[in-house]
Amino acid sequence: MRVLLTGAAGFLGSHLAERLLREGHEVVGVDNLSTGQGRNLERLRRHPGFTFLRADVVQPLEVEGPLDWVLHFASPASPPRYLKLPIATLLVNAEGTRHLLDLALRKGARFFLASTSEVYGDPLVHPQPETYWGNVNPIGPRSIYDEGKRYAEALTLAYHRAHGVPVRIVRIFNTYGPGMDPEDGRVVSNFIVQALRGEPLTVYGDGSQTRSFCYVDDLIEGVRRLMEVDYPYPVNLGNPEEYAVLELARLVKELTQSPSEIVFKPLPQDDPKQRRPDIALARRLLGWEPRVPVREGLRKTVAYFKEIVRELGHGG
Ligand code: NAD
Ligand code: UDP
Repeated sequence: MRVLLTGAAGFLGSHLAERLLREGHEVVGVDNLSTGQGRNLERLRRHPGFTFLRADVVQPLEVEGPLDWVLHFASPASPPRYLKLPIATLLVNAEGTRHLLDLALRKGARFFLASTSEVYGDPLVHPQPETYWGNVNPIGPRSIYDEGKRYAEALTLAYHRAHGVPVRIVRIFNTYGPGMDPEDGRVVSNFIVQALRGEPLTVYGDGSQTRSFCYVDDLIEGVRRLMEVDYPYPVNLGNPEEYAVLELARLVKELTQSPSEIVFKPLPQDDPKQRRPDIALARRLLGWEPRVPVREGLRKTVAYFKEIVRELGHGG
């Protein structure tokens, strides 16, 4: 297959690109490097089937040659990052999604949208099945991401219904693993880097809010399986293993054997209180479930961050 993948320099995009390249497919990676990392691209450039196009997908995109898939993974994903890039985040999910759907339509390609569990907002139903419509503050600071993704899902299904574009939509729940950006501010990277540097672990609020953490290899396996079935509606992918944030901080301290203290900082506005995927649909449709327990995934992630912290130096 020849696949166009946006967000190829990012955490998930680079893992997905690597998986497809290893299977022998050709990948045209597109990224504007706004939140991506050069080190992810270096890894991909070792594969002869990889080409890189530096472009902002908010602008219309022209690519030569045939395409079997347009995979749209470009978007800031970490809350501190998207809060700093509010308009760009809305546009990459609105205009970006539109241009990429147009590209898929022109090329006769299938389209794949990386959506998010954030479409459920601060959920009042727990765990969250795909049938839940969510509880999103449409004008709060997080709305640029949540509503951007909700619009992207609506647009994707509109192209499917109006133009017959074959589409897939994945709702990704918090995913972590090697390849994460040590600086992007998400909880797993923050806690591990803080613990390795002997700095305080910053728990926002009282740490009773929960998240469910999926190891990246499991997520990519689910994405790959979703590409193989003909199902246009959203599918949750995530690991139902649910942790309170304070519990996660203690676990990271234990796994890194870090003497760091835990400190409490203000809770960001509209921070969801709980989140856990209902993965019954993914089990039935894809025969998929996560295989890597959180403890094991965190150990592998700690090993990756040890290297990164050594490269960056203390406090770098
Ligand atoms: P990331 O920030 O590591 O990667 C996103 C990539 O998109 C970056 O390389 C960035 O430079 C690129 N990008 C952003 N705007 C762009 C634009 N206008 N044009 C071209 N490139 C652009 O984030 P990630 O964790 O890899 O997330 C990838 C996708 O998965 C995103 O769509 C995100 O919303 C979704 N997602 C991720 C998670 C998670 O836990 N990692 C959870 C839910 C959804
Ligand atoms: N969080 C935290 N300390 C940090 C970073 C995040 O306590 O240093 C909390 C954050 O408030 C949220 C949870 O951890 O409740 C997950 O945050 P993340 O930014 O990873 O992703 P989210 O699920 O909010 O998009």
